[in-house]
Amino acid sequence: RTWAESALGEPLLRAVAMAGYATPTPIQMAAVPLGLRRRDLIGVAQTGSGKTAAFVLPMLAYIMNLMTSPPPMIMSRGEADDDVHDPQGPYAVVMAPTRELAQQIERETTKLAAAACHGSIKVVSVVGGQPIEEQAFRIRQGCEVIVATPGRLLDCLERRHLVLNRCSYVVLDEADRMVDMGFEPQVASVLDAMPTSNLKPENEAEEQKNVYRTTHMFSATMPAAVERLARKYPGTRGKGTG
Ligand code: AMP
Repeated sequence: RTWAESALGEPLLRAVAMAGYATPTPIQMAAVPLGLRRRDLIGVAQTGSGKTAAFVLPMLAYIMNLMTSPPPMIMSRGEADDDVHDPQGPYAVVMAPTRELAQQIERETTKLAAAACHGSIKVVSVVGGQPIEEQAFRIRQGCEVIVATPGRLLDCLERRHLVLNRCSYVVLDEADRMVDMGFEPQVASVLDAMPTSNLKPENEAEEQKNVYRTTHMFSATMPAAVERLARKYPGTRGKGTG
């Protein structure tokens, strides 16, 4: 199987070539085409399987598409604030259980985005153990993607450092570890802060609107608690494993 079969556009094909990813891994072969069609999915994959690029590539394709043809605003813009580059917040949020994993995802996303679109997609990591003010400053300067641990992300939302008014793409990485570490309530609160619906569009015209949220969940194992999280948040249609 080759990248050419994956339906990635030219900029992202260039990015995988620059990263040295000669051929897609099995999870990438399974998840990338579904992700590009904005299907919800559950990927059962271990670290080392290439799962990060499997969710980052469709996420970047989605954002690049939005940036060239912006959808109507989901919510009315609040008071214009000249200091705030981006009062609507990121287009996509990735949540991961640990700071190290979030930073690793941030690096992979930044690397692929830089190669595909020369840095016009900005990625910010929002993790515990670092000053929240610095993260708030970077968020205020504008970002298209936030990679976060759930506790710190919720903290940023509660302190109004961040809005998620146009976030319609969510990735939950290592969902089983997030459940084990007790992050389920924080993940749920973050999802509840998004105006986008996890219902599925009925037709193509509806799909073009930015009100439907895509949810990609990755997990090394599939315990009952992860199934429960998956049933509650992503639509259960389009479930697939790789
Ligand atoms: P992950 O499972 O996402 O942690 O990825 C494990 C490692 O594989 C990372 O260092 C990636 O840079 C690398 N990688 C991801 N996709 C590919 C690919 N298609 N070919 C070769 N290496 C890859």
